[in-house]
Amino acid sequence: MALIVQKYGGTSVGSIERIRAVAEKVIKTRALGHELVIVVSAIAGETDRLAQLAQELSCLPNPREFDVLLSTGEQVTIALLSLALLEKGCPARSYTGAQVHIRTDSAHNKARILGIDGSKIRADLSSGKVVVVAGFQGTDEMGNITTLGRGGSDTTAVALAAALKADECQIYTDVDGVYTADPKVVPDAQRLSQVAVEEMLEMASSGAKVMQIRAVEFAGKYNVPVRVLPTFQEGPGTLIVAHEDNMQHPPVSGVTFNRDEAKLMIQGVPDKPGMAAHILSPLSEAHIEVDMIVQTVTGEGTSDLAFTVHKRDFKQALSIVEQVAQKIGAKRITHDKKVAKLSLVGVGMRSHAGVASQMFQILGKEEINIQLISTSEIKISVIIDEQCLERGVRALHDAFQLGAGAQKTAASCL
Ligand code: ADP
Ligand code: ASP
Ligand code: MG
Repeated sequence: MALIVQKYGGTSVGSIERIRAVAEKVIKTRALGHELVIVVSAIAGETDRLAQLAQELSCLPNPREFDVLLSTGEQVTIALLSLALLEKGCPARSYTGAQVHIRTDSAHNKARILGIDGSKIRADLSSGKVVVVAGFQGTDEMGNITTLGRGGSDTTAVALAAALKADECQIYTDVDGVYTADPKVVPDAQRLSQVAVEEMLEMASSGAKVMQIRAVEFAGKYNVPVRVLPTFQEGPGTLIVAHEDNMQHPPVSGVTFNRDEAKLMIQGVPDKPGMAAHILSPLSEAHIEVDMIVQTVTGEGTSDLAFTVHKRDFKQALSIVEQVAQKIGAKRITHDKKVAKLSLVGVGMRSHAGVASQMFQILGKEEINIQLISTSEIKISVIIDEQCLERGVRALHDAFQLGAGAQKTAASCL
């Protein structure tokens, strides 16, 4: 008998029919003798719908109230799934994040899980119940409802698996595993049978939304075995493995992209110590994550600082940066919301030189202009015009021979 945490995403619970199908799947697994904790997302599109309602009342909704609103999406699904299970004779009980004491910090809309009290869940499991928990939410120490950022139900599932010392965390979704690129954009993309945690971290951070990055961080930190699986069919999915084995890795394992970034540039910043901190600290105090940062010294005692933030944070970031620019005497602020980030990820980059220059050549051939570049040991990212994105993704996927048609050298690809 194993303890398994299963998470079903928004499309997987996208209608009453699908919720019934998920209930069947849960009952089949339970019949094998396993204990089950099920984490569910809101019905697909519901979180967007709720966010839109708030936007109609306020262009910068109060973060606390916004979380009270957004968290309701998952509350609907836990009740519906529990009803479906009970209707089929399976004992089940639903809980919101608050009810199972998922404690978070107070960073509304992007809170981090600090701890979970698993006692109630354990008691229900021992009495033979399937426990259904709302993903994406918790409460801070003042009892305020918080949400964990888009895609946060993945993190709820992995954190619960860690807290309960589950044997496996299964992330059920609308694709049959982690692919070499988003299969909705690259039809030729291939499923990876396994991915190293560090590779998955880079893929998630650069836009492969199949798993939220914090979920992968939890999996790595607490050694939770995670498998990404298809809800609507059978299949082995993708196992996220803690350690690399001795396999030969291709230089690139995946191509990822993110359309959610916006670029800001402060020009004519006095070129003296402390300026970057002056500009970026107020952003971090406002819990705005800055992604790529490039500083260029322009001569005449000034420099330009360009960086990207999530499009959602753009307005707030711009207003903060406008105030800072005035304070430090910077000359000008420019911005561009029509950009996207394109990345290559692969642990194989460690042992293959020249991946970056190959990437730049391929993009050059496609006449795609690179605006910003950042690299890590196993990732290269560029900011480009969003209109060129899909062309860039496919060109790189082809050139690095990741497609089903290309000759495979990676033992990790099936
Ligand atoms: P869920 O609602 O189940 O949480 P998401 O929409 O958050 O599902 O994540 C699954 C989606 O992630 C897929 O439908 C796919 O379009 C997208 N995706 C992006 N990159 C990848 C990738 N490399 N492999 C698999 N799916 C990916
Ligand atoms: N419902 C939330 C979202 O749409 C959380 C999740 O689905 O993981 O982002
Ligand atoms: Mg998701």
